[in-house]
Amino acid sequence: MIGIFGGTFDPVHYGHLRSALEVKDIFGLDEVRLIPCANPPHREQPAVTSEMRLQMLELAIKNQPGLKIDTRELDRHKLSDQTPSYMVDTLKSLRQEFPAGPLLLFIGTDAFKHLTGWHQWQQLFDYAHIVVMTRPGFETQALDDFFKARLAKDTSELAQDNAGKLCFQQVTQLEISATAIRDIIARKQNPGFLLPDAVIEYIKQHKLYETH
Ligand code: ATP
Repeated sequence: MIGIFGGTFDPVHYGHLRSALEVKDIFGLDEVRLIPCANPPHREQPAVTSEMRLQMLELAIKNQPGLKIDTRELDRHKLSDQTPSYMVDTLKSLRQEFPAGPLLLFIGTDAFKHLTGWHQWQQLFDYAHIVVMTRPGFETQALDDFFKARLAKDTSELAQDNAGKLCFQQVTQLEISATAIRDIIARKQNPGFLLPDAVIEYIKQHKLYETH
């Protein structure tokens, strides 16, 4: 089973990294692919170039064999400049590469809240399961029928099908966001212990995020 963790990673931080590692172990995944998006459809454009976000990601996962970087969204963007990075296209292309076996798309609760606004969001379930990484006490009762019909009773159900299920998995909560890190740096404060030192060094060297 392969896990997929998409994001802007502007910059990557321990909230992303710890969650990715944790779900890899919980679900017994062969690998988790971190997929930096080139042109996020639902938010402002990243503060730094794709190349730099990718280099920071490379520094961050250097010593973590189970975490891999997948550049297909960046590669796609190079070919046709203006296309937004739609997750449905990414899953389609991953499914071609991995025709057999479950794909698990991991998203945070903030991303799940906006999932029904994603391009062709229902079709995401044709290609992958979706696992929402939650905090303790997260309420799932307000799900609409589309989601209820796909809800897995427990995580072992995900291994039985290649795609189509929804599940919620609690992970260690680290209240870290890239937005807060960019603000800390712009205020000339120290972002230490929120993201890997190698990434902090890179940010310093390239003078990233120094202004809003
Ligand atoms: P920004 O503050 O710029 O919006 P972010 O920190 O939320 O960035 P993204 O790259 O946009 O990071 O997030 C990618 C994915 O990681 C999303 O699914 C998001 O829900 C999840 N995520 C972000 N921060 C955390 C965190 N602290 N713990 C767990 N998951 C997170």
